[in-house]
Amino acid sequence: MKGNFKLTLLSCAMAMASHCAFAKTINLNTDIAVIGGGSTGMSAAVAGAEKGAKVIVLEKNVYLGGSSAFAEGLFAVESESQRQQSYGLSKDEAFKHIVEFSHYKTNIPLIRDFVNHSADNIDWLHQQGIEFKAIQISPTEPLVWHEIEKKDHLIHGAVLIGALQEKAKEMGVEIMTRTPASSLIYESGKVTGVKAKDHKGNDIVIHAKAVIIGTGGFGNSVEKINEWTEFDGTKFKPTLPLNKTGDGIEMARNIGADHEGENLMLHPGTEGKGIIPLGALYTMTWQPNNMWVNNHGERFVDEAIAFSFAQAGNAIARQRDNYAWAIFDDYAVDYAATTGVDNGVGVMVPVTTKLSNIRQEIKQALAAKGNNFKSADSIKGLAKEIGVSAKTLQLSYDNYNKYAGQHYDEEFVKEHRWLRPIDHGKLYAVKLLPYHFTSIGGLKVNRELQVLGANEQPIPGLYVGGNDVGGLYSDTYTLWASGHAFAWATYSGRKAALSAVDHMKHSK
Ligand SMILES: Cc1cc2nc3c(=O)[nH]c(=O)nc-3n(C[C@H](O)[C@H](O)[C@H](O)COP(=O)(O)OP(=O)(O)OC[C@H]3O[C@@H](n4cnc5c(N)ncnc54)[C@H](O)[C@@H]3O)c2cc1C
Repeated sequence: MKGNFKLTLLSCAMAMASHCAFAKTINLNTDIAVIGGGSTGMSAAVAGAEKGAKVIVLEKNVYLGGSSAFAEGLFAVESESQRQQSYGLSKDEAFKHIVEFSHYKTNIPLIRDFVNHSADNIDWLHQQGIEFKAIQISPTEPLVWHEIEKKDHLIHGAVLIGALQEKAKEMGVEIMTRTPASSLIYESGKVTGVKAKDHKGNDIVIHAKAVIIGTGGFGNSVEKINEWTEFDGTKFKPTLPLNKTGDGIEMARNIGADHEGENLMLHPGTEGKGIIPLGALYTMTWQPNNMWVNNHGERFVDEAIAFSFAQAGNAIARQRDNYAWAIFDDYAVDYAATTGVDNGVGVMVPVTTKLSNIRQEIKQALAAKGNNFKSADSIKGLAKEIGVSAKTLQLSYDNYNKYAGQHYDEEFVKEHRWLRPIDHGKLYAVKLLPYHFTSIGGLKVNRELQVLGANEQPIPGLYVGGNDVGGLYSDTYTLWASGHAFAWATYSGRKAALSAVDHMKHSK
């Protein structure tokens, strides 16, 4: 008895919870337990409650939202907003394009359902009080990105999370923040609940007819990236620190769930001394009119691939040491400052934004003498600054300017619109580093969003949505269907809840 008390105190101290000396086990009963309060989890909660189910949501962080609170737009085809703009892309065309992009290495029936219901998904979210406008996010993508309209003081995904949270509360959903789920209760071949610990150190045991996982992937775990993907988690960094460590995938794998396609949604970016996060120099790494070279000093791609951030990330990732340099001149600096950028960074830096403080940031970054931003008066000088062969860089540079002069890129067929000579004033180089917005890939599922175990048999009582689902993207996130991940999270969360309610009814 004495020993147990000591143990409780020790675990309380470890949990850094001052008032948990009297931690207890709290047993709760519900129809649906949702793990994760992002858009998957909150869509599941609202959809389940709409069908009359009792729902408890467990959220690890102090706040709800995960990546979803920062996302901006959702994919859909044949939506009301597209109809209002007389936009003609059909579900069939979109579906075919998406599966061809992934070389049919994905869960095709799942994608068919998702594309077919993508407009209904927007309608359902609209009923929850969220307004959208379909926009075209870049010249290489169709008009399928449904940007969330501002509401009160909130923008983007925070509007969606706020609206779903309000609805969930109205319908009596219990939301437990600072309460990370730790394991699934798996008895006689069925999931019958989930265990968690709250911030007071109490053990929470939820007995549920169904558990829906929506923990948003493993993008913030260096260990899981190293173990589950081809990438080095120390070099491929997440855009934001969101504490998503693959908990849901791991819990399900621990009870025999199958999984597939663990990967990262790459994108270019930069950081370093004097460089402002998401500032002007960061935005320059997304521009199509720079010249990119690897650390041999060689060009390796049509730089307008920057319009498709996931593919740009791929191209950079496969260079030696997983980085490259974006080179531009004073003309490009003035253009960005006065005409505005040709490629936005999502809607965080919308297309045409004038980088009015770019000169200031350049000054600051050069004064900071960091390794990731350099300048010189000549290409030879720049080669020295960035540590590449002067001869090779000179050749790449001369060729690039020759292609710009003749309006034809003999090497990588860069479109003439983005092929400007780089020969005005000073030259600059910013290091292109690979980041990821989120992990992709995870648990294998059927069309009902049930998690599959051995022999592709559903594990009764267990469902999953959002970033924790495998089989959606093959090796690269599809930017053509921009907003796919966010739309998928909301669609799959809701679908998982509807499937769970349906199964509950039929198993009565
Ligand atoms: C900056 C940024 C911008 C983006 N923009 C877009 C965009 O415009 N369009 C688009 O399609 N995609 C975008 N994405 C990707 C998109 O946000 C995600 O794919 C999607 O929101 C994932 O939703 P989710 O519910 O699966 O995960 P999340 O929204 O991340 O939610 C998961 C939640 O689970 C919680 N959790 C984790 N572990 C546990 C546990 N053990 N117990 C309880 N809770 C747990 C997390 O704390 C989190 O709140 C963006 C991502 C980022 C980072």
